[in-house]
Amino acid sequence: MTMAATITQVPVKVDSEKCIAEKGCTVCVDVCPLDVLAIDHVTGKAFMKFDECWYCLPCEKDCPTGAVHVDIPFLLR
Ligand code: SF4
Ligand code: SF4
Repeated sequence: MTMAATITQVPVKVDSEKCIAEKGCTVCVDVCPLDVLAIDHVTGKAFMKFDECWYCLPCEKDCPTGAVHVDIPFLLR
């Protein structure tokens, strides 16, 4: 699996203002079937660790604070 180069290039973005991972939330990490999301223990926020995605969306739908945004490629819409 390819490591995500930079946070701004990956399809799944986490709004660090809204993410409450530092309070123990790991919902997006848990629901992702590919295990590409992770919690950054330095920032205490979720992020896309591996740049691979099925665009299946549970991470976005199940996030309790609406912090996750999945950028679906135009051709898949
Ligand atoms: S589900 Fe939302 S609030 Fe919870 S860790 Fe993921 S991005 Fe943060
Ligand atoms: S859209 Fe699916 S594969 Fe992509 S990060 Fe979210 S849960 Fe994982």
